[in-house]
Amino acid sequence: MIAALMPTYNRADLAFERGEGAWLWTSDGRRFLDFGAGIATTSLGHAHPHLVKTIQEQAAKVMHVSNLYRVPQAERLAARLVESSFADSVFFCNSGAEANEGMMKAVRKYHAENGHPEKFGFLCFEGAFHGRTLAALAATGNPKYLAGFGPAPEGFRHLPFGNMNAVRDAIDGSTAAIMIEPIQGEGGVRPADLRFLQELRAVCDEFGILLALDEVQTGMGRSGKLWAHQWAGIEPDVMSSAKGIGGGFPLGAILAREKVAKYLVPGTHGTTYGGNPLACAAGNAVLDVVLAPGFLDGVDCVARHLWKGLEGLAARHPRLITGVRGAGLLLGVQLVPEVSNGEMQAAAVEEGLLTVAAGMNVLRVAPPLIITEAEVDEAITRLDAAAARMEDIRLRAAAK
Ligand SMILES: *Cc1c(COP(=O)(O)O)cnc(C)c1O
Repeated sequence: MIAALMPTYNRADLAFERGEGAWLWTSDGRRFLDFGAGIATTSLGHAHPHLVKTIQEQAAKVMHVSNLYRVPQAERLAARLVESSFADSVFFCNSGAEANEGMMKAVRKYHAENGHPEKFGFLCFEGAFHGRTLAALAATGNPKYLAGFGPAPEGFRHLPFGNMNAVRDAIDGSTAAIMIEPIQGEGGVRPADLRFLQELRAVCDEFGILLALDEVQTGMGRSGKLWAHQWAGIEPDVMSSAKGIGGGFPLGAILAREKVAKYLVPGTHGTTYGGNPLACAAGNAVLDVVLAPGFLDGVDCVARHLWKGLEGLAARHPRLITGVRGAGLLLGVQLVPEVSNGEMQAAAVEEGLLTVAAGMNVLRVAPPLIITEAEVDEAITRLDAAAARMEDIRLRAAAK
């Protein structure tokens, strides 16, 4: 008989009862160091006092009123995001996929309103991940995820990640936008070349198409800057955000320049929950911490420490690990083909460390942004033990 909870996930047999900072405890009392952060989402760690207090206080006042009324918490959060980004205006929703859907609608609306409804196509990239709704899946383009779900929405092409010639070749009269993650997350923690991002910006300007960034995973400080595209010194026309911005409370956002945002007038787009007082109170609490003076410098600093630690790990286990990649606190450990990231992840769990698998056989390491150097050192110690465990298993298998 089917489980009451629909079986869409292969879940590890671990149930967490409570957390504090970068640590989680199971109901049977085991303690884990959380270097997955609920898939790069619990940016402030678990039970952060400021986030908890803000949510408790807001929940006791008013959680939800709908977007039929003004929501001061949303107005304030939007103003602060505008203040700290390229954007002139922000739409709030509840998830990354929903933010991407809205972003794609905004792109198409922009061209339609400018007299070019024929410009509806998106140039996306191999290895991308944009979410699980139908259009987000079409933008993702992974045949494994699309199989069985009928005809995919049209207007999505996939190009080799980082190949500027392919981008130039693909642009035609139907191109509306280039849509890209500055660092592919699910696809294998693969950063785009900063030069590539700069050239994409230039080609968008040249052809009058929009640059749409998916910063659902890379934004809100994860890369060591507030937005990952800032490393390239460019600005998009429109951008999606989610995961870390709510610190674990469901919250998504579309950030847009005025020239794009101005067409999303009443009746064009909407959401019932999106941007409600509780979600936006959580978003404001996360921003209070992330925008505090010195916080992002601290993220950058501890991230460099983690990078060094992982490089050391790679050097000690060359038969297991071939390299480290990513940026900030979104790092990937590239494993040899003989060892799967799932096995390595399980070995880390045995050592009390949580990580997340990513594409291309990469083990994703994405701790909360409040992580300390001592906790990074502890994670490296545990990864060393997990790597030794894997090598042991491989040696024994080879001896048979
Ligand atoms: C996780 C993710 C999404 C989807 O977000 P959901 O909240 O799961 O809908 C979209 N894009 C990127 C880059 C992501 O990492």
